[in-house]
Amino acid sequence: AEDALRQAQKMEAVGQLTGGIAHDFNNMLTGILGGLDMVRRNVPEPRPDKVDRYLEAATVSAQRAAGLTQRLLAFSRRQSLDVKATDVDRLIADMEDLLARTLAENARLEIRRQDATWPVTTDANQLESALLNLAINARDAMPEGGRLTIETENTHLDAHYTEAIGDLAPGDYVAIGVSDTGTGMSKAVIEKAFDPFFTTKPIGQGTGLGLSMIYGFARQSGGHVRIYSEEGKGTTVKLYLPRFHGTAAASVPTADRDLPRAD
Ligand code: ADP
Repeated sequence: AEDALRQAQKMEAVGQLTGGIAHDFNNMLTGILGGLDMVRRNVPEPRPDKVDRYLEAATVSAQRAAGLTQRLLAFSRRQSLDVKATDVDRLIADMEDLLARTLAENARLEIRRQDATWPVTTDANQLESALLNLAINARDAMPEGGRLTIETENTHLDAHYTEAIGDLAPGDYVAIGVSDTGTGMSKAVIEKAFDPFFTTKPIGQGTGLGLSMIYGFARQSGGHVRIYSEEGKGTTVKLYLPRFHGTAAASVPTADRDLPRAD
């Protein structure tokens, strides 16, 4: 429970800081991209090839930076979720092609489902981006190929389990397990993996935001996320999302301030 509180405070602090920086940065990048465009329009054609290449390279870099600041803004805003009853198996099936294309050439995707997976209460867009992020991490962990398995399972979490985590209601959840046969993570990496900006990847490849965003998303939907990993064997990230009860407007679990309330 203390860990969860520490993590929440850390996310809050980093969120505020990055929000401010990302906002200013975004304005500067708009200036840079606008300036590049003006150069392109004002230097008459035909331009030397070199000039076009430099312009192109600068534009691509500035656009990548803009993409990063967008992600930072989304992270820091902790935009309120659009929670609805969601069919997780269907959402995963719809993403199958995209997920398969994310993996290295000789990696396989395996999707396993049970008969009657419960509907869950979540934001479908956020869940999609969480799964895509997990697939990207899996690809990075198995560049030579391997197997990515996505499995859904109805689970009951009892008070004994939820109390150890803190701020999680006992009850029914759907567990989405995303497992790879990649490098795995050391104890030290597992401990830091949810920290914003923690990455072991080279600059330009990793932002260290994937898992921290997934953590924030899971908690905000009244769920939970957990990492099981063994070095040299592989990693499973398990996302628990609360079962949807009822029929009308989505009922919103837990006491998260940021969630719209149905009552
Ligand atoms: P990023 O992928 O940009 O580094 P993440 O927050 O998604 O950011 O992950 C943080 C770190 O956790 C990664 O740099 C990597 O060291 C480790 N990690 C995440 N997923 C996996 C995985 N499936 N296998 C091995 N290591 C992983």
